Amino acid sequence: MIMNKQMADAELSILHTYNRFPVVFEHGEGCYLYDSEGKKYLDFAAGIAVNSLGYHYPGYDEVLKGQIDKLMHISNLYYNEPIIAAGAKLVEASGMAKVFFTNSGTEAIEGALKSAKKYAYTKTGHADHEIIAMNHSFHGRSIGALSVTGTAHYREPFEPLMGGVRFADFNDLESVKAQINEKTCAVITEVVQGEGGIYPAAAEFLQGLRQICDEKDILLIFDEIQCGMGRTGHYFAWQDYGVQPDIMTCAKALGCGVPVGAFVLNEKAAKASLEPGDHGTTYGGNPFVCAAVSKVFDIYRQERILEHVQELTPYLEEKLEMLAAKHDCVQTRRGKGFMQGLVITGRPVGEVVKKALAEGLLVISAGKDVLRLVPPLIITKEHIDEMAEILERCLK
Ligand SMILES: *Cc1c(COP(=O)(O)O)cnc(C)c1O
Repeated sequence: MIMNKQMADAELSILHTYNRFPVVFEHGEGCYLYDSEGKKYLDFAAGIAVNSLGYHYPGYDEVLKGQIDKLMHISNLYYNEPIIAAGAKLVEASGMAKVFFTNSGTEAIEGALKSAKKYAYTKTGHADHEIIAMNHSFHGRSIGALSVTGTAHYREPFEPLMGGVRFADFNDLESVKAQINEKTCAVITEVVQGEGGIYPAAAEFLQGLRQICDEKDILLIFDEIQCGMGRTGHYFAWQDYGVQPDIMTCAKALGCGVPVGAFVLNEKAAKASLEPGDHGTTYGGNPFVCAAVSKVFDIYRQERILEHVQELTPYLEEKLEMLAAKHDCVQTRRGKGFMQGLVITGRPVGEVVKKALAEGLLVISAGKDVLRLVPPLIITKEHIDEMAEILERCLK
């Protein structure tokens, strides 16, 4: 009853850009959320792969509260202490060279695209370069990010978008090669396609991209916004393939709940791309969000979060395979680490998501028919068992 009133009130003022699920969340604890009527939900959505440490992870809140008491914002005209720590930790985790902090994923993509364009401009002395992106990719909602997002229904109403973008097929190296010409300055791809339906890259695809980009001095951009920050059991999904990009984007779990993203450049890209005056942000990398980023890296290291994901992935996959084997409406499972999808056939995936919500489990969809599971990285076997029991009822 309380929630009905709250939801009606929300629709009075909040622009209707989401068909929200009929629930108002009030607080969270560990891997659980509680709605404003007190009902408990097991969270396998994690705020869309953001809350990798769940809710109120020991030590995290304290750092943020402490930072509020010191300094929240000062702009990028000055240095601050948290950005120094956060930058160093992101550089260390990635083995790359330089970081620019943003407020979101889409802004990280914007910065990555601008870096690639500037790199080519510096090299050739002229503008008008092209970017190759993948079909069924998702890179965000700003005009630049939308321009490299390969899903027609997100793009159509907003065309013309940024020009000079060509699309190729994910995991199809020949289709990428067919789009390359003398104007190409970058190839951008997710390492595990998220919104498109949880498709991990094939190793040969990433290796092939690396090779061709090296041959032609094209920058390789990996979007690690969803699959990064430990989700696949590595800080960044590309680390498992041994294929390093020239530019990487992160966001989502980077701050585990504060709005922060980043684009990260290797030495080559950093040296010959953005310079003072080329790019900026008022909020990006402010002390508050950087205190969170820095603490997240500390927690990942101290609590061996990556190892935990690696250790528990076989168990999660086994449970999901069992569901797939048992239920005709589950065609297959695919994914990497704690980024998993079940392909649903014969019934709308949205129906299963709603049923799960009613049963106290949060999952989300991806693509047109994929049930997506992106839980906090701190889940235990017991949480996986609980998820499987609830899904069992929902898939019947
Ligand atoms: C979520 C997402 C984005 C966009 O990030 P926002 O923070 O929503 O702007 C970009 N790329 C990928 C792969 C994503 O999953």
